[in-house]
Amino acid sequence: MTARIIDGKAIATELRARVAAEVARLKHEHKIEPGLAVVLVGENPASAVYVRSKSKQTAEAGMRSFDHRLPETASENDVLALVGKLNADPAVHGILVQLPLPRQIDSQKMLNAVDPAKDVDGFHPVNAGRLATGLPALTPCTPLGCIMLAKTVHASLEGMEAVIVGRSNIVGKPLIQLLLAENATVTVAHSKTRDLPAVTRRADLVFAAVGRPEMVRGGWIKPGATVIDVGINRLAGADGKNRIVGDVAFDEASKVAGAITPVPGGVGPMTIACLLVNTVRAACAINGLPKPGV
Ligand code: NAP
Repeated sequence: MTARIIDGKAIATELRARVAAEVARLKHEHKIEPGLAVVLVGENPASAVYVRSKSKQTAEAGMRSFDHRLPETASENDVLALVGKLNADPAVHGILVQLPLPRQIDSQKMLNAVDPAKDVDGFHPVNAGRLATGLPALTPCTPLGCIMLAKTVHASLEGMEAVIVGRSNIVGKPLIQLLLAENATVTVAHSKTRDLPAVTRRADLVFAAVGRPEMVRGGWIKPGATVIDVGINRLAGADGKNRIVGDVAFDEASKVAGAITPVPGGVGPMTIACLLVNTVRAACAINGLPKPGV
C-alpha cells in the first residue's frame, strides 16, 4: 500500500484564501479590520523566522499586523507592560507571545497576562478550561490544524480509535478535547506508556507530537490508518545542511498508512493558517458578531 499524502501546504493555502474572504467581508459589512499583534523577545533565529512568516501571512490575508520586538534582556515587567497595552488596544484582536522566552521570563505568567478574548494561541487557562468543558473557546492552532487535516480524509471522525502520542499543553492535551468533540475514542500515550507500538497499532488515527525524530515506525501503524505527524526535528545531513524530519518514519509509515502528512508540508503550514482563523474568530467575538465562516 502507498499512502495518500495529505498536502498541508495546499490545504493551508485554501484556508488562508477563505480567511482573506472573511476579512474582506468584515471590512465591507462591519468596518472591522482584524489585527494580530506578535511579541518577540530576544534573538532566537527560529522564532524570528516564524514571526516573519506570521506577519507576512497576516498582511496577505488583509489583516493588520503589529510586530513588537523586545531585547533579549527585557524583564518580565517590560513584557507585561507591552501585553497590557495590547490588551487595551481596540485595533488588536489577537495577541501572540512567541515562545520560547528568555530564561528570566516566566512563560506561563506571560501567557496568563493575555486577555483570553485575544488569546489567539489558545494557551490561556481560561481557553483551555472552556475547551475542556465544551464552551466556545479560542483553540490552540496546531491541534486545530491537525483536526482539519484529518477531516480532509474522513468526513466524520465519529467512533474512530484515535491515539495521540505526546501530552503537551500546546498539542497533545488540546487534541484530546478536539477529538472528543468529534466523538472519536481517544487514547493518549506518553513517555511512560508501556508497549507504545501495540497502542498505536490499534489506532485508525495516529497523531504524533513527541519531538523525537522518526520515532514512530512503519510497524507501529495499522494498515490503512491516517497518520498526522506534528513533529519538527532538525537533523544535520551528511552535506552539513539541516534536514527537517517529523516524529514518524515517513518512508516506512507511508507504505502502511492509508493517508499521511509529510514533514515539512503537513501540519506546519496549517498552524499559521489557523492562527489567522483564530484572529478572525476573536475579532468577531469581541465585536459581538456570530462565529465567522472559517
Ligand atoms: P513536548 O512539550 O516536548 O512534549 C513531548 C511529549 O512527547 C511529552 O508528552 C512526552 O511525554 C512525549 N514523549 C517524549 N518521549 C517519548 C517517548 N519515547 N515515547 C512516548 N512519548 C514520548 O513537545 P510539543 O511541544 O508537544 O511538540 C512535539 C513536537 O511537535 C516537536 O517536534 C515540536 O517541534 C512539534 N511542534 C510542531 C508544531 C507545528 O506547527 N507543526 C507546533 C508545535 C510543536 P511525557 O509527558 O511523559 O514527558
